[in-house]
Amino acid sequence: EYQRKTDGTPRVIAIINQKGGVGKSTTAVNLSAALSERGMKVLLIDFDPQGNSTSGLGIEKEELEQCIYDALIRDVKASEIIHETETPGVYVIPATIQLAGAEIELVSAMARETRLKELIAPVKDEFDFIFIDCPPSLGLLTINALAAADSVLIPIQCEYYALEGVTKLLESMKMVKERINRDLDVYGVLMTMYDSRTSLANQVVEEVRNYFGDVVFDTLIPRTVKISESPSFGMPVTTYAPQNKGAEAYFSLADEVIDRASR
Ligand code: ADP
Repeated sequence: EYQRKTDGTPRVIAIINQKGGVGKSTTAVNLSAALSERGMKVLLIDFDPQGNSTSGLGIEKEELEQCIYDALIRDVKASEIIHETETPGVYVIPATIQLAGAEIELVSAMARETRLKELIAPVKDEFDFIFIDCPPSLGLLTINALAAADSVLIPIQCEYYALEGVTKLLESMKMVKERINRDLDVYGVLMTMYDSRTSLANQVVEEVRNYFGDVVFDTLIPRTVKISESPSFGMPVTTYAPQNKGAEAYFSLADEVIDRASR
């Protein structure tokens, strides 16, 4: 049995951006794996019906009998749906397309905004970090993630309109802070799919740093072929191509994340 390394309260971090394709799942999988190589015990909650974090960690979605949906809607316990992965120290609560139904079914549920928070409470202390890979929307699933989290990690793709939608995201956070989770804060902003050869990428990084300030991680995640290939092998890039500069970047991000945890 893998033991957690840090003591004190675990960090519950929602990886969030309502835009799709910005690197949420990629970051969820690879940051979790990189942290585990630093000795951390990590739980990744796949909260996106696409289930990319689940398959990215080598779990066959077709073979699952239960997923996060069953815990949210049918009161199955978190401990019953936590899976070990091929990456020692990384555990996952999987999602399948069934989770898409939860968005509607939750509407009429009791305590609908805090289901996830209640669900993870009994297992929280077993982990150093818990990540929630959010769906690309600001619906009830995302509200659940924001209610359960201590803070958020916002991946932003180095592209035109990078900051588009960010205001809306910050408004949702503000609403959750006022009504459900007073202490919610921003753990960090991560620039993804960075291509140093383009001046656009550098402009975007500057623009995002101007907007968010110090909360932007120093680490920039480069766009690499190995990062995009690794999910099809059900492996994090840190296992698939540990020497790749994408893997190195996720290790460097893991160090920054650990650093911020002790502040
Ligand atoms: P999201 O979870 O925000 O929808 P994903 O993490 O699924 O985004 O990433 C979208 C696509 O971009 C995926 O095909 C993924 O493999 C690819 N991708 C993400 N980050 C990188 C990167 N740093 N280099 C190359 N491809 C990447």
